[in-house]
Amino acid sequence: MAAVSLESVSKVYPGGVRAVSDLRLHVRDGELMVLLGPSGCGKSTILRIIAGLEEPTSGELWLDGQLATDLPPRERNIAMVFQSGALYPHRSIQGNLAFPLELAGEDPDEIRAKVVELSRALQIEQTLDRLPGSLSGGQRQRVAMGRAIIREPSVFLMDEPLSNLDAALRTDLRLEIGALVRGLGVTTVYVTHDQVEALTLADRIAVLRDGRLEDLGTPTQVYEDP
Ligand code: ADP
Ligand code: ADP
Repeated sequence: MAAVSLESVSKVYPGGVRAVSDLRLHVRDGELMVLLGPSGCGKSTILRIIAGLEEPTSGELWLDGQLATDLPPRERNIAMVFQSGALYPHRSIQGNLAFPLELAGEDPDEIRAKVVELSRALQIEQTLDRLPGSLSGGQRQRVAMGRAIIREPSVFLMDEPLSNLDAALRTDLRLEIGALVRGLGVTTVYVTHDQVEALTLADRIAVLRDGRLEDLGTPTQVYEDP
């Protein structure tokens, strides 16, 4: 059973821009799917449709075998990280990480344990008592990822999470993202225009052009097949 299925999805924005055209895409349970393509090809629109932030003009979105329109947003349990993960500036790192669990009413001792465990995995355990403003861009993005996944989402969406970082940080964090999402086994859709990110991270790559699926396959299939 595919965790995320787009069936003949199209999106036309008011004003007539056709951002996504007749897209059929199945992301398997636990798979890391990279959406690759140049700016404007519809990647963010597809993510927002999966997240429920945007309605397709036509077509269907299925999540774990259920039509998404039948699922209330809080049952979708989808987490999303953007280019610059916005943190709550007046909450400590610990407070930022804990926030989704506090909202869910979890037990404070369990929250503390989960925050510590996740901060170790993300190598930010030294920053827990600090405020976001005192962290580096790479550290802030780790916190944003941690906060997104702390409730163990069934789907994890990332929109160019490395694009605001310098080259060295990008490489480090890219490797960690791969290890993190594979460790969690969470179905992940990762948007980028960077071929190296796609090649090194993806189980499969969906190559997009002008809102259409141009190619789909493993990195080897996409880059080596004629
Ligand atoms: P990408 O993420 O690949 O850069 P987007 O999904 O952001 O692509 O955009 C696809 C196309 O849709 C672009 O032409 C963009 O200008 C247009 N677009 C995106 N969001 C909107 C919007 N809210 N209203 C109108 N047009 C939009
Ligand atoms: P990205 O590079 O991630 O696709 P953009 O800079 O294209 O981001 O878009 C940033 C925001 O502006 C998005 O929320 C997108 O929906 C919106 N947007 C993009 N193009 C248009 C447009 N032509 N009209 C209205 N909103 C747009």
